[in-house]
Amino acid sequence: MFKTEIEKEVFALKPMNCPGHCLMFSSRLRSWRELPLRMADFGVLHRNELSGALSGLTRVRRFQQDDAHIFCTQSQIKDEIEGCLDLLKHVYGIFGFTFELKLSTRPPSFLGEIETWNRAESQLEQALNSFGYPWRIDPGDGAFYGPKIDITIRDALQRAHQCATIQLDFQLPQRFQLQYQTNEQGELQTPVIIHRAILGSIERMLAVLTESFGGKWPFWLSPRQMAIVPVFPSLDSYAHEVQKKLWLAGFQVDCDLDSGTTLNKKIRQNQLAQYNFIGVVGQTEQANGTINIRTRDNKQHGEFSIDEVIKRFRELAETRTNHAEDEFAGSSSESNVAGATSQLKATNLSDSLDD
Ligand SMILES: [Zn+2]
Repeated sequence: MFKTEIEKEVFALKPMNCPGHCLMFSSRLRSWRELPLRMADFGVLHRNELSGALSGLTRVRRFQQDDAHIFCTQSQIKDEIEGCLDLLKHVYGIFGFTFELKLSTRPPSFLGEIETWNRAESQLEQALNSFGYPWRIDPGDGAFYGPKIDITIRDALQRAHQCATIQLDFQLPQRFQLQYQTNEQGELQTPVIIHRAILGSIERMLAVLTESFGGKWPFWLSPRQMAIVPVFPSLDSYAHEVQKKLWLAGFQVDCDLDSGTTLNKKIRQNQLAQYNFIGVVGQTEQANGTINIRTRDNKQHGEFSIDEVIKRFRELAETRTNHAEDEFAGSSSESNVAGATSQLKATNLSDSLDD
């Protein structure tokens, strides 16, 4: 932890969300009717890692997680785990990741009642079975405070990454003396906590995604969706006008007004900077109120009105397609495959043409 002393009192920067969520739970008396109680938090976390352990975006000292803690009864474990697995499938499906599941069970040095462990493990098994994905068991690999589901994702290059966590915890609720009323008579019980993160560290996920896409961000995620390139400096104001309209429609569009280089070189540079689309504007386009569209892989789509471009961009962003460059003018799934192949070839081509 990063610690500092102020007027003889020690303060520390928050290293994790769990304790804070426990305090929020115990801030007042809780009833069984409130369970499951789910708290989500993207709060900033700090870990005082040794400088030698730091690495790019994958291990940093300050990061955020898509963290959540679910406070539930023992009988709610199965349903809550099923919910976590559904979310996992949904989120990883968007990125096109496949994943493998592993149930890690009671280790030799466990804390708590063996009965509690057995019941929880059987609920996790049931949840995994009804989820319908293949999974395997890793006996004795659970944490001392509870069993967990380990998730390994595979990116586009089939490399394995561990990002998500679904972890049961019987100990933390006891240490924070968390309780809820089980009935009108006020009988008290200790809840179970499920720690769950899907993306895990957002910084780390960014690194995984950057590598997975090879820097070629899909349109819907791209910070560089389009570069507007005017043919002559006299068209700068029209280029600005186009940029503003697309920007106001919610798209990441830049203008390349540098007139010190040739048109072809400008197009090339913006393609290498991985703008998904390059919009060239000349005198014809200005007269017609249009943009001439080509992709970063130099596929030429031709002239489109600004309104048409906005309409297509909206569709491409909403469907979260990873092949927006090929689908811009509308296409079948067959040409998508062809597009993916030509995309790979084009990458090599642009590297070798890079002057
Ligand atoms: Zn936690």
